[in-house]
Amino acid sequence: MAEPQNFMRVPDPSPKRTLYTDAMEIFHRAADTIGLAPRVRLELEEPDYEHIFYVTAKLKDRLRPLSPEAARSFGDLPVTQVRDPNGLERLADGQILLNGKALLGSDVMIRRGHLRLPDGGVYQLIPGESQRFKAYRVQHNQARGPYKGGIRYHREVSLDLFKALAAEMTWKTAIAEVPFGGGKGGIQIDPRQYGREELEAITLRFMYKLKRLIGPNIDIPAPDVGTNGEIMALMMRQYLDGENERHVGRAIVTGKDVRIGGSEGRVKATGRGVVYCIEDYYADKGETLKGKTFTVQGFGNVGSYAAEIMGNLGARLLAVNDYDGTIYNPDGIDVAALLAHVQDPKNLKRSVVGFPGAQKIEKSDFWEVPAEILIPAALGGEITSDIAEKLKCKLIAEGANGPTTPDADRILLKRGIDLIPDIIANAGGVTVSYYEWIQNKRMESWTESEVNAKLEHALKRNYRIIRDISRNNPRRTEMHDSRPFCVGKQVEPRLAAMILALKRIEAHYVIEGFSQ
Ligand code: NAD
Repeated sequence: MAEPQNFMRVPDPSPKRTLYTDAMEIFHRAADTIGLAPRVRLELEEPDYEHIFYVTAKLKDRLRPLSPEAARSFGDLPVTQVRDPNGLERLADGQILLNGKALLGSDVMIRRGHLRLPDGGVYQLIPGESQRFKAYRVQHNQARGPYKGGIRYHREVSLDLFKALAAEMTWKTAIAEVPFGGGKGGIQIDPRQYGREELEAITLRFMYKLKRLIGPNIDIPAPDVGTNGEIMALMMRQYLDGENERHVGRAIVTGKDVRIGGSEGRVKATGRGVVYCIEDYYADKGETLKGKTFTVQGFGNVGSYAAEIMGNLGARLLAVNDYDGTIYNPDGIDVAALLAHVQDPKNLKRSVVGFPGAQKIEKSDFWEVPAEILIPAALGGEITSDIAEKLKCKLIAEGANGPTTPDADRILLKRGIDLIPDIIANAGGVTVSYYEWIQNKRMESWTESEVNAKLEHALKRNYRIIRDISRNNPRRTEMHDSRPFCVGKQVEPRLAAMILALKRIEAHYVIEGFSQ
């Protein structure tokens, strides 16, 4: 006879493996392990809401560079002298936007829609047209509080990806013990191909459409890949546009600039949290970070600050891989100098490539650099089974969301490479986002040391519970109590983290019940 919970499911005639089903594999294993109540499982295995909508914006006129071969047919095209070089905005992909009166008053020499700039390059003039962008917001679960999760601006996004990332936020907020649920969203766009004012227009329009779906007590966005405090400021401005009690609404987004209601410590919080976990992993062995070697994939918000803080604790950075390339120095990379290189306004791609204090290597070699710790802090799905076979590290601390595929996970386990899973390792960001939200609600402002001390306590306490679940070591200490969460057998760390999340979420359904 069919089990009652199976009876309730609509059978899928062709179960397909997708990014989302892969991401949910660990959820199902944890649910099986703890015997999660069947109705809670149904509630959690699909999101509450999946929103897809469209945003349009008018783009600026731009100059697209011609390849040297194509430029040859314009060999005798005279140079256009630009009166106002400040009106030319260079983008990371080589295009140039014409802002304001960029070419007004210049002797513009155009031939068949092309002109030559004083830099010698020939450019095709592309008239600014309106463009449509696909936007998403997935609200996964709100059993523990308002939906909470980042806004991603990236070319490779999809509903499936946002579903996986939103679910991950539900687990993460439960693990971090912040009273939020999970959400995620963003726009399908490569922000490096658009100018400042264009991104402003796109963001304002995005929030105009998003406004009816979110609120400071309903769903609270934050920065993620491709967005930052400036984007959050625009989102806040648009949300509060015309509102009387603006101060009440500042909690609509987190990750804001500290001068407009952001929290001290938020910018570095995710990277700092990764390091707190790594520190605690070694403290448990009676070791410190001094002299440990590490590599980082992704040198954006999470990767760069994790590297900086690791460096301050005496660890040595050997290699960095980002979207544009890989650098390596067996004697150690000067992290402060690398940060300055990446943040230099002339470095339009904000890439580590070209850093003089290291040599260039191939991405495939990055994975084989022998270092104790690997911090993936770029995108999901980077550590595949092939790469897992090659890695020479002893510990992976997942700064990125979902960097390791389920197949790779099995290989890492077999090879005895330890793991600090993403839903605890990178929970520092959402934890300090919660502190920001409280500060906004109470109209308070906490110091950075207060924030960091609270963050350290929260992450280490919950990481210790996860380690105890993993080792089946139920105990109560001054800092934590793992007795309600251990399952009577040892489980791997990723499963342990998910067990902690599910037990905390399940309690809300079991004790509060289900609204009808
Ligand atoms: P970011 O946009 O600031 O930086 C991303 C970095 O990854 C850049 O250095 C980029 O060059 C690199 N990158 C992108 N694609 C790559 C590829 N294919 N190969 C190698 N490198 C690549 O983003 P971020 O905010 O630092 O986020 C990084 C990861 O951390 C994401 O998975 C994000 O979801 C996760 N995360 C971020 C936060 C946060 O507070 N920002 C919190 C939790 C988790």
